[in-house]
Amino acid sequence: MDRITVRIPQLTVEEQLLALARGGAHVAIATAGLHRRPEGVVFIYRDLPPHTRDLAQAGSRIAAQGLCPLVLGLSAQPPTARLVSSWLQELGAAGAQTAAALTFVESERELSVWGAARVEGQLCPIGELCLPGPGMLTIPVHPRPPKGADAEEPLAGAPSGAPESEQGQASTNGRWSRLAAAIGDADVPRGYELLARLAQLHVVLVGCGREGELVSWRLGENGVGALGSLTLVDGDVVQEANLGVLLPPQTVNSHKAEAVAALVKVLAPWCQLTPLVATLSDREVLDLIMHSDVAITCVDNPAARLGVAVLCARHGVVHLDATGGTAYTADGQVAVGGEVRVALPGSPGCVGCMERTDRRQALANLSLTPAAELLQRTSTNWLQQRPGSWLEVLLPVVGELVQELIRVVQGKRRRSIWLHYWHGAEEVPCWEDWTVQAQGVSPQCPVCSPWGVRGRGDL
Ligand SMILES: [Zn+2]
Repeated sequence: MDRITVRIPQLTVEEQLLALARGGAHVAIATAGLHRRPEGVVFIYRDLPPHTRDLAQAGSRIAAQGLCPLVLGLSAQPPTARLVSSWLQELGAAGAQTAAALTFVESERELSVWGAARVEGQLCPIGELCLPGPGMLTIPVHPRPPKGADAEEPLAGAPSGAPESEQGQASTNGRWSRLAAAIGDADVPRGYELLARLAQLHVVLVGCGREGELVSWRLGENGVGALGSLTLVDGDVVQEANLGVLLPPQTVNSHKAEAVAALVKVLAPWCQLTPLVATLSDREVLDLIMHSDVAITCVDNPAARLGVAVLCARHGVVHLDATGGTAYTADGQVAVGGEVRVALPGSPGCVGCMERTDRRQALANLSLTPAAELLQRTSTNWLQQRPGSWLEVLLPVVGELVQELIRVVQGKRRRSIWLHYWHGAEEVPCWEDWTVQAQGVSPQCPVCSPWGVRGRGDL
């Protein structure tokens, strides 16, 4: 087996380690979903069932649900290979041929992670632990050696113009110095570290309309895509009505994803952009989202938004969503404003429950063929759907969306949130936290609750 990754939300890791330390227990057995990919296997943390110390009993119960056991331990010493393989063997004998074990080793100076997995009976080392959510960290798992010198200096070899420290030190006058100081809260080296983390992310952006165009540009300008990747997904072509943001008139009739990628490449040449002319029903797009760190939706189609939310919940991917401009209220009035939603793995709430999408209708729309979807979209009068698009209202929404991504990487955003932007009394613009209005905090959501598809991976 080439590469084994374990994906556990950062918030869950903190909670579990505290619970293990408090309870005096040293081992907990969680359930995990599985995602098989050509280059390896990803175990995705799903839930911690009622505590048991009986590995065999837990293993057979979890295997009977079609899921995999994930043993989580806390120890002062690295575990012996014999101990870990005996756990995995015991689970295998109980019927769980695929299982993983991770031990967090607490020393005075740091927390390190040790682990191994059994995949269809074969014992293999775990390569990395991916912690989506606050901080967006990926940690090498011992005894596999750390990634080498590159891991110490993540920006070495960055394309020219990328968030620097190319010389191995944080410049206070370079291209990125002001941004580094701002996001590092005046601590410039810390700011560069955060920029490096932003640069390493694999981000998929669905929807390259006016909003997606602005978001792509701002992501590029914040270093996203410099070392990781930024994939732009849209099946549409640019129409005259889409102009007025950044795209020049000669892009009319070209594919939106390609036109926006070409533009951002000029504005932020360090950004590794890949345009994908496709819709959410294409297998390639689904695969990309499952493999990404962050998925962003800038779409006016609730079905597409919900589809991405389901994939993100299943695979432990951070989901950011934004809409903005003008809309009709339930009683037909024109409302000005927008929404920014952040769904963090490990925290209740997803776009599905925050938006109260009609799931049955959304599923029906998602299963339309591209031709039927195009016909549906072009045969309806846009003015009946929404009262136009206003760039000046989109700008604060886009700014907030990109700030939210930065807050996640900074570790400051520690829960799923729905932010509502509106023009209040006397036309004073304001932002409000609408998370409490969403049903997302209830444990019933079929997407993000423990009873939903969360953390199931492909299983
Ligand atoms: Zn939900």
